[in-house]
Order: sequence, then structure tokens, then C-alpha cells
Amino acid sequence: MRISSVIIIGTGLAGSQVAAQLISLSKVKGVGVDKITMISKGSMQDCNSDLAQGGVAVALNEPDADSHFSDTLTAGNSLSDQKTTRILVDEGVEVVKDMIEQGLEVDRDSQGKIELGLEGAHSKKRILHLGGDQSGHIMLQFVQQQSRGQVTVLENSFVSEILVDGNQAYGVRILDETDQESILMADFIILASGGCGQLYTPNANSLMISGDGFAVAKRAGAMLERMSFVQFHPTLLNLAQNDPKCLVSEAIRGEGGVLVNSNGVEYMNGVHPLKSLAPRDVVARENFKQIASGRSIYLDVSNVEGFKTRFPSINSTLEKLHFDVDINKLIPVIPGAHFFIGGVATDEWGKTSVNKLYACGEVASTRVHGSNRLASNSLLECLVFGKRVALDILTALASAPEAKSRSTSLVLTAQRNEVLRPAPRQSSADVAGLNLPELHELQVRAFDSIGIIRERERVLEFVKWLAQYSRNQIVRNRDAMQLENMVELALLISADFLK
Ligand SMILES: Cc1cc2nc3c(=O)[nH]c(=O)nc-3n(C[C@H](O)[C@H](O)[C@H](O)COP(=O)(O)OP(=O)(O)OC[C@H]3O[C@@H](n4cnc5c(N)ncnc54)[C@H](O)[C@@H]3O)c2cc1C
Repeated sequence: MRISSVIIIGTGLAGSQVAAQLISLSKVKGVGVDKITMISKGSMQDCNSDLAQGGVAVALNEPDADSHFSDTLTAGNSLSDQKTTRILVDEGVEVVKDMIEQGLEVDRDSQGKIELGLEGAHSKKRILHLGGDQSGHIMLQFVQQQSRGQVTVLENSFVSEILVDGNQAYGVRILDETDQESILMADFIILASGGCGQLYTPNANSLMISGDGFAVAKRAGAMLERMSFVQFHPTLLNLAQNDPKCLVSEAIRGEGGVLVNSNGVEYMNGVHPLKSLAPRDVVARENFKQIASGRSIYLDVSNVEGFKTRFPSINSTLEKLHFDVDINKLIPVIPGAHFFIGGVATDEWGKTSVNKLYACGEVASTRVHGSNRLASNSLLECLVFGKRVALDILTALASAPEAKSRSTSLVLTAQRNEVLRPAPRQSSADVAGLNLPELHELQVRAFDSIGIIRERERVLEFVKWLAQYSRNQIVRNRDAMQLENMVELALLISADFLK
């Protein structure tokens, strides 16, 4: 009898979808994985998937797949891979339909018909919403529920290394909340560690999302690509000073919200035929320029009907900040870091260049987003390619000769089907005395140099500044390692831009 094991780094939508599909497809395929371990740096829900507001782009209204495909290519400046993009839009329909059949509750009109919304650069209404602007939260809960009780989850656990033997991955090194190290081994490792928003300020990402996965994958020898392709969102809420900032969803512009500057000018009118609903890169650049020339920018929601009920999550954040859209229709916004487009290169099954190492979700580069992601294509990417990773693993298991699994937990005490939930990390560990940058300074410099507008001279200066911080220092802790990963990622983004 064969015993097989899988480690999934990340409990966001991509990682959770791999786990759910490994379980459900095993019934169809007649072969399953005996042990699935999911690892999360914070709590299981603390990730970008949980924050997604806008929804899921999916061609539910036939025939729409061809225009979803061409909108994706156009928004991506024709740099998308046509094969993987076709997979995304075509298989996306089936994956989402299956979820609805299994009970996923999506927003419907008064007749019970599924309501589809519009977002930037979509030529048709095809954005599926859940709970108004709580799409990511509801979808993540739904997918996580499918594997609950059947996987081991290690929360507050930091993966510092993917272990490789030659060009084959066989395990991970983990630091717990007190920086105690342990090693976990498995037959397959899936990297689903999300993007890198915390490298920049301002950003709208979870505090957990600082780009560890890219650095960890690189050290394991995986091929990375398109590392300078970072997406900046045009509209983050510009009321509180701290990061992460609340995203002011593009869906609001889809419902009639319009960008205006402090002179009352609808400045996008002269910039792009789609005006405020132009592709994200175009709007983010123009917003940046408006601010750089001394103007403030706002999202005018005067024409958005039923704002408070249609966007309950954003409205609740506004109310907490004592901002009432019934009184003030101009929501102050600012562009900021949002999504990582490039990443760990994968084939159409999520395989990386390292054997037994898969990547999916935001950390992966499936090349579907070209150089600019079409709004709401990311959750779909997690669902479609998460399922493909699971299928590929089960296919490999079905054809593999029987062998003993590497499944060995050396130090970890979590039992099968248990959520190991140590106390969250309370305070920042001491990184003083180490040759590392101060986090905020790194974030500010990254935004200035490898942010929305990039100039060769500035990037070169930034690289020189980064070069003073060396790896391989003696004292090791999670905060120091995270900063080192961020420095490494900043160098990778810079190098890709400069090449
Ligand atoms: C505010 C906001 C709104 C968005 N709205 C939309 C939308 O409407 N539609 C859409 O399609 N997309 C949207 N996106 C993008 C989308 O949410 C993400 O791209 C997608 O959810 C990424 O999923 P993921 O599973 O790859 O990563 P995440 O959901 O970010 O999960 C990453 C996981 O990796 C873990 N992890 C990271 N590093 C480590 C480490 N070193 N050790 C252990 N674990 C680690 C984290 O703890 C987490 O569990 C939005 C993003 C944001 C930030």
C-alpha cells in the first residue's frame, strides 16, 4: 500500500482549493492523498483572499468565454499566454458552476437570477459577487469548509525554506511563533503563499503578505519570471494613515462611481476612452500623476445607487472612520500596491521547474494576466489552477509505482485532521543589531523606485541601497527572515526591470 503526503504552503483560496480538490477528486480518480498539511503564517483566514471585494470574473452568460478571453488579453497588453488564458476562462465556467451547484451562495436579483456586475476593462457584465463586496471572504469560507476535519492545519507557522535534494523538493523548514525550527517532509509541496503587497506603502494587502514565497522558491532553485510585473490598484481609501488600507473596489466605478480631482475635474475623460473604467495600470498611473502634481483625488459616488447595501464591507470601514456617504459623496482615494503578476513560473498544471514542487495562486506565474491583470481574474485563477494542481498530483499518484511516502513530521506535534493554533505572534522580534533595513523605509523606497512610475536611475540607486543588506547573518528569527525575503524580492523586481 502506498502512503502519500502533501504540504500546502498557504491557506488562501489557492491553497484551500488544492486541498478541497485533492479530497473531492480522489473519489472520482480512485486514488487519494493520505496526509494533507496546510501551513499559514498567521491565522487560516488572514490572507488576501479573505479581503477580495469585487468578485470573480466568469463567463456564466453564454456565449461570453471568447470575449472574456479577449478582454483578458487586451487588459494584459497582449502579453498573456493564450493557452493558459483559454484554460482560465473556459474551465473557470465549469469550476464556478460546480461550486454554485454544491451550494455556494452568490448574489441574485429579485427573480433569483444570478446578478453579474461590471468592472474596469471588461466589455460585458461578468463579475459574480458574493454578499455584496464580501466575495473573497464567503468564497474562502466555502472552499475551506470542504476540507475541514480532513487536513492538518498549522497556523502562525512561518515557512523559511523549501528543502530540495538535487532538483526535487521534499519538505519545508518551519519556524513557529517562538522561532523554534522544525522540518516537515512530504511527497509533494505546493507553494500558494500569495503576493507581496507589504513590500510597498501604501498597500491594501494582508499584513501576512510580504512576498516570502518568491524568495523561498528562488532559494530552492525554482525559475521565476516577469518579476517586475506588479499591479497597483488605482483606488485605496485615503483616510487612515496606516497600511494595509481598505480597497475601494473597482466595482463601485462599475456601478457609476467617477474619479474626480480636487479641482472637480473628471480627469480620466481625456486619458482613455473607458474613462474611469480604463484598465487598472492606466488609471493607477494617472492617479499617481494627479497626486504628484499636487491634487487630491476622489471617487465621486453621487450616481451609485444603494451604495450602503451594495458595498456593505467598504461602507462599514467608512463608518468606522466617521465618513458617511449620504453626507459626503467624495471618497478620498490614493493608488497603492495590490497584486503580484509575475512569480514562480509554472506550466498549465502548476508544475514549477523543481520536481514535486507546484505553485498556484498569486505566487505563481501562469502568464494569464499579461502585464496587467484584468479585474477579478485572480480568484478565478486560484480556483482553476488549484484544481489542476490537485488533478496532476492525483494523476501522478495513480501511475506511480507503490513506494513509501516521505511523510514524516520530525518535530511537529500536530495530529492528523487537527488545527494547530498557537498564540499569534504578539510583538516584533528584535532585529536590531542585524544588517537589515527598517521596514517602513524599505516600503517607502520600494514605492518610490519600483512602484507605479519607474526610472532607470532611481532603480539603480535603490539597488545600491539594497546591496548593503546581506543575507546569511547569524541571528535568525521570523521578522529578520521576512525582511531578508523582502530585500531579496526588491532586488529581483529591480533586476527584472533593469534587464
Ligand atoms: C483588498 C483586495 C481586494 C481584492 N479583490 C479581488 C477581487 O475582487 N477579485 C479578484 O479576483 N481578486 C481580488 N484580489 C486579489 C486576490 O484576492 C488575490 O490575488 C488572491 O486571493 C490570492 O490568493 P492566494 O491563495 O494566492 O494568496 P492569499 O489569499 O494571499 O494567501 C496566501 C497564504 O500564504 C500564507 N503565507 C505567505 N507566506 C508564508 C510563509 N512564509 N509561511 C507560511 N505561510 C505563508 C499566508 O499566511 C496565506 O495563508 C484582491 C486583493 C486584495 C488585497
